[in-house]
Amino acid sequence: MVCSYFATNMKYQVSINKAFENFIEIEAKIISNSTEILLQLPAWRPGRYELANFAKNIRCFKAMSKNGAELKVRKQTKDSWLIYNSENNAEITVSYEYYANQLDAGACFINEEQLYVNPVHCFMYEVGKMEEQFEVKLNIPSDYKIACQLPSSNNILIANNFDQLADSPFIASNTLQHHEFKVNDSNIHFWFQGKHDIDIVKLEADTKAYAALQIDIFKEFPCTDYHFLYQMLPTAFRHGVEHADSTVIAMGLGNDMLRDDFYNSLLAISSHELFHMWNVKRIRPASMLPYDFTKENYSTLGYIYEGITTYYGDLILLRSGVWSWDQYVESWNDDFLRHISNPGNNNYSLAESSFDTWLDGYVPGIAARKVSIYIEGMLAAMIADLTIIKNSNGKFSLDNVMHDLYHLFYKNNKGYTENDYQALLEKYGQESFEQFFAKNIWGKNNLIADLQNILTYFGCSINNNKLTKDQNSENNLLFNFLLSR
Ligand SMILES: [Zn+2]
Repeated sequence: MVCSYFATNMKYQVSINKAFENFIEIEAKIISNSTEILLQLPAWRPGRYELANFAKNIRCFKAMSKNGAELKVRKQTKDSWLIYNSENNAEITVSYEYYANQLDAGACFINEEQLYVNPVHCFMYEVGKMEEQFEVKLNIPSDYKIACQLPSSNNILIANNFDQLADSPFIASNTLQHHEFKVNDSNIHFWFQGKHDIDIVKLEADTKAYAALQIDIFKEFPCTDYHFLYQMLPTAFRHGVEHADSTVIAMGLGNDMLRDDFYNSLLAISSHELFHMWNVKRIRPASMLPYDFTKENYSTLGYIYEGITTYYGDLILLRSGVWSWDQYVESWNDDFLRHISNPGNNNYSLAESSFDTWLDGYVPGIAARKVSIYIEGMLAAMIADLTIIKNSNGKFSLDNVMHDLYHLFYKNNKGYTENDYQALLEKYGQESFEQFFAKNIWGKNNLIADLQNILTYFGCSINNNKLTKDQNSENNLLFNFLLSR
């Protein structure tokens, strides 16, 4: 039995005895021959590029030798613990409790109905041993099912390294609903936790349609099983977080929302998160490869990993026929309204706003300071896409750029830079994109001029802040080009 430990540095056990007070009990057995063992908890989670202070949710941290003696522990930083293993015990046990009372798409929650964990919040790694295998055993009732991208047997999840563990949220509950189907050769899983009245047959058909189109762009579905973990909440809510082979989407229908709007909103966020499977979970800025969980991972490229994903999330629904033109335009208009009502456009560029997500990227912040990598990033992606389509007369588009980022960079274990992205835009756009970057990415308040110009070429305009087909245009090029690919 002891031999098997050598393959695995840390074996976690998670217990739910304190679910009624929203605490998860966590214990880790660590095999080490060091006299000092430094454990690190992540300071942030991928998908939300700001520091998160997860350690504030931890209480009752202690370390014990195999014979039950308590070991001396001293914190080294706000989220690292140094254990003095002076007796040189080959195995020590660490235990603590994690407060889990945040039911959204990226955090942790426990009550009598479910155990829901984003491991990046509450699991630690031994510094220097991130690449070893991790095990997580869930001490849960026998009628609980587990939804997770990690393989499991007998309630034990196995991760190849800490990155994979941190990226693998799970829900364990006896009310999980599971639905499975195939897209190409891959299995798609829907997991629903919470009450809902979504038409699963329709959702499956729509998911097949938009997933097929995304696969067609990248020419590859990179995993054998992909899991949608839907947390259905009783009040208005919308939040999604991407992972390598899964996503968590937390949705709630408010009293003031129509059911069709709710369903379309669920489709849009699902398409967005699936697109992230390629764009950011695999196609990654060089500055985030690998992730450094201890501190800020700065990047000026949020307009690519969030902006392009936001652009494609909706566009794919239109191109796959899941959405009508009117449905697409309704969503586009909402985004455009957020763009023009943000005076931050005058004061800060898209690239600099990306860098600063670590400061205030997910809150309104002070007035007129910054723009959004999602909204302005989406509009910049549209300008780039339409410019390539125009210059190549429809032969190429941003699809080709995304395809190449995946195959030239991810498939060669490389991150990309702004120069790499620019080179691909210029390859397919057949012109210099210097001005595009100077104005729309690093400049202030110039995006709208290029957007209007390119829309005019495609027989569209923005009237009363709404995307409109030009009535005088004999043949609406935007509509035709967007749908003809
Ligand atoms: Zn996103």
